[in-house]
Amino acid sequence: MRATFMYGAGDVRVENAPDPALRQPTDAIVRIVRSCICGSDLHPYHNLPASEQGTPMGHEFLGVIEDLGSEVSGLKRGDLVVAPFAYSDNTCVFCREGLHTSCLHGGFWARGEVGGGQAEAIRVPQAQGTLVKLPVGEDSELLPSLLTLADVYGTGYHAAKQAHVNARTTVAVIGDGAVGLMAVLSAKRLGAEQIILMGRHDERTKLGIDFGATDVVPERGAEGVEKVRELTGGEGVHTVLEAVGYMNAYETAVGIVRPGGVISRVGVPQYEDAPIGFGSLFGPNITLTGGPAPARAYIEELLPDVLEGRVEPGRVFDRTIGLEQVPDGYRAMDERTALKVLIQP
Ligand SMILES: [Zn+2]
Repeated sequence: MRATFMYGAGDVRVENAPDPALRQPTDAIVRIVRSCICGSDLHPYHNLPASEQGTPMGHEFLGVIEDLGSEVSGLKRGDLVVAPFAYSDNTCVFCREGLHTSCLHGGFWARGEVGGGQAEAIRVPQAQGTLVKLPVGEDSELLPSLLTLADVYGTGYHAAKQAHVNARTTVAVIGDGAVGLMAVLSAKRLGAEQIILMGRHDERTKLGIDFGATDVVPERGAEGVEKVRELTGGEGVHTVLEAVGYMNAYETAVGIVRPGGVISRVGVPQYEDAPIGFGSLFGPNITLTGGPAPARAYIEELLPDVLEGRVEPGRVFDRTIGLEQVPDGYRAMDERTALKVLIQP
């Protein structure tokens, strides 16, 4: 099969790779029908050390089950399924608490013996717990929106859930990438009436307004903080959904959250040290939360709205490419000429 590997920063290649095969009775083999490139794939694209052996890439996919291990039930060959960005048994103590990214038998794609999703096919460990059957055909127009359940929609939703967004909370979303836009959509779904989107890419913030943003703040740093405070009577917002991951986004979050508020981070932090003391979080009683979204926990909940067309999260995809064009797809996302790139192997 053909599959994507990264050999170092900026060095993405599509190469021949062995076809995946069942290894455990709990595995499935999925032929990938749609995949995509994630904003978080850009972190290794910027700083992966060069190596002789490439790293498989991709953690968002939906596809058709081609083969199943003997211990997988509830699924069959030919089923169209979506996989969250982490595999999990869906039965252990952490999965039962809705924290599938901490599954005792789980893990992440493109690590160790498990391949990546930017490929023609993939071996899925813990298939019964991981894969969710989709009641549509492979030619459905809903595929882009259904694919967002693998990561970005679940991640945006996780940010909003962790922050306890509701009709009484004001919300600021930092970042107008796909996850930030999904955080807007999620805050809207949870009833928020004021949703301030901090982003400065016109086409993205326009989509954010379609998804439910009530205000857009393109300014950054101290100026951005001041604008958000102006929009909230000087008080700041109850909840900040931080979908970027850089230190300046964290500092902005601290600057715009109101006393007693919540900062919920789903942008993968590119820092280890950040202010949490009296002058930042402790003094004003701020809660800091967030982490890798247990996307699996939200699929059943978010699926009906997608199937019935009440939301259209797939609008975040603004470019579709074949597998051979994946290196161009990375470049386009890195140069911000594409918001999110859909791959049709
Ligand atoms: Zn588990």
